[in-house]
Amino acid sequence: MIPDRVATKPSNRPIKLLDEVSVNRIAAGEVIERPAAAVKEVIENSIDAEASRIDVEFSNGGKSLIRVSDNGHGIGERDLPLAIARHATSKIDGSDLLEIDTFGFRGEALPSMGAAGRLTLTSRRMDAASAFSITVDGGSVSDVRPAALQEGTVVELERLFHATPARLKFLRSDSAEARAIVSTVRNLAMAQPEIAIYLSEVTSGGKPRAVLKVDAEKGEWGQAMFSRLRKLIGRDFAENCVAVDSSGGGVRVFGFSSLPTFSRGAATQQHLFVNRRPVRDKLLHGSLRAAYLDVLPKGRYPVAAIFLDCPPRLVDVNVHPAKSEVRFRDPQSVRNLMVAGIRRALESQGHRTSSTISDAMAGAFRPEGGASGDFSDRFDRFHRGDSAIPRGRGGSGAHQPALTDSLPFDSPPEPRSVEPPPGALLGVARAQIHQNYVVSETSAGMAIIDQHAAHERLAYEDLKRQFQKKAVEVQALLIPEIVDMLEPERTRLLEAAQTLKSLGLEIQPFGPGAIAVQSIPAILQGANCKNLIQDIVDELDGGEAALAVEKRINEILSRMACHGSVRAGRVLSGDEMNALLRRMEETPNSGQCNHGRPTYISLSLQEIEKLFQRR
Ligand code: ADP
Ligand code: MG
Repeated sequence: MIPDRVATKPSNRPIKLLDEVSVNRIAAGEVIERPAAAVKEVIENSIDAEASRIDVEFSNGGKSLIRVSDNGHGIGERDLPLAIARHATSKIDGSDLLEIDTFGFRGEALPSMGAAGRLTLTSRRMDAASAFSITVDGGSVSDVRPAALQEGTVVELERLFHATPARLKFLRSDSAEARAIVSTVRNLAMAQPEIAIYLSEVTSGGKPRAVLKVDAEKGEWGQAMFSRLRKLIGRDFAENCVAVDSSGGGVRVFGFSSLPTFSRGAATQQHLFVNRRPVRDKLLHGSLRAAYLDVLPKGRYPVAAIFLDCPPRLVDVNVHPAKSEVRFRDPQSVRNLMVAGIRRALESQGHRTSSTISDAMAGAFRPEGGASGDFSDRFDRFHRGDSAIPRGRGGSGAHQPALTDSLPFDSPPEPRSVEPPPGALLGVARAQIHQNYVVSETSAGMAIIDQHAAHERLAYEDLKRQFQKKAVEVQALLIPEIVDMLEPERTRLLEAAQTLKSLGLEIQPFGPGAIAVQSIPAILQGANCKNLIQDIVDELDGGEAALAVEKRINEILSRMACHGSVRAGRVLSGDEMNALLRRMEETPNSGQCNHGRPTYISLSLQEIEKLFQRR
């Protein structure tokens, strides 16, 4: 017998409104995806309450306990039941969703937590004589009762997801969830230098163990921000970054971004904020990538903390329940501002190279050090495991074994009387060794310059400048190249036609399923149009058609530069060496070669003395 399936098929049942607890549990699915998301919501509430100190404790990766205490303005007795009611908020009146200047506004976080776990709010308003508390456990709400609390608010979330076992199954291990909490708190703390934030893990013995502890930073805002980032991202980053600060159209891009020689193998250390809200945003991450396009090889990523501030109406924050995505009114100008701002900062500091390299090199020279774990680890982090001594023909691994064999010098050293021009970072050339390394005496110590890498970069920057000055020479194609293309890519590509034209690439519609390429930048002559267009289409996903063309052009210029530059192995005269150093000092981005490796390494006198154990 065939069972009567129609009667049991859910979509065929009568429609009914879900009860409040179910609605809140469904919302919890989006808003409180994992314990770290709950931590984020609660901390954001404390920031909105103008707390100057926030304490966060958690147990078992936040699964059994999350407790956040603040010294903010608190919640009054009568408001407590409202705080845990759905769509109840003190932050907006609903009349204008484009003027949001608080982290919260959806009124969903606390009710979601109360539906998925056991939530206790204890709070005392600044002007109140005593504190009160309320509990929601799996959706059932207690009475408001008097409580003991000096100031602010304590939010306690126990057994998160015990009321939604399905979600509980999707959680990762305690330690993975704990890591997510730490990175969430660290991210929020980066944007709030004036707030003291303490994070600790309560272990099974009940003893809290500090995981992260930052006091309120003092001083001018930019300085406070820098000092906070130094603590949260690291001293290495602080020493190897450039300050970015550019404004336009009401938008300010402020922050710190790493020197190209201080890069990582993954994009995990890119902290982006919009109006202090940590965001994961394709446009902004793409802009960061575009800014480094020319100074980092494929597969290397800058480390950065960039804060974009603008009037609330220029950005829509109500596009994601967890508020981690935003949408800009004018994405293109935000992108341009960010790319230009970071590039300008890098160019102004472009002759600098990562200081960590000299640390690494000191490690390599140290008798007991050699290619010690510490050295190679550190270097690996920045240089894809390349040797510390860049492109040493004789040098492999972390040592420069042939250092002593190379004496006497290939070319006579300059007479000692030659003094470096005042302020010359790279000093005066004293020798050339292995026909590729210029050794110079600097005011602080010494530098070793990879002449091939340096020259390649200089030639490349030259070519780029020439290319830009000529405002892109265009090569019209005698027979337009027809490239087949489906929707919606075709329309999106055609929408970018104007931008592409400014780069010398002219395209037109060609029937319903194709486009015609009319002209290309002369420098790309002979390039495979289909591949070029395909690359552009791929980049369109990130809204970056222009990036693909620029990337191609840069690749070709870089290849030309490589052929045209001084090969390793050429003997240079003293004058030639010094001329190379002076040009490096004045050329943007000259601290790294076209492949992102350093062009020079400097060693301070102090470091040299340390090597000889004089210190
Ligand atoms: P939202 O933050 O979107 O308003 P929430 O559910 O996170 O929604 O919080 C609801 C309300 O509870 C807030 O609007 C605020 O008035 C109050 N509240 C929550 N946490 C705090 C806190 N730490 N200090 C003061 N008020 C708070
Ligand atoms: Mg909130």
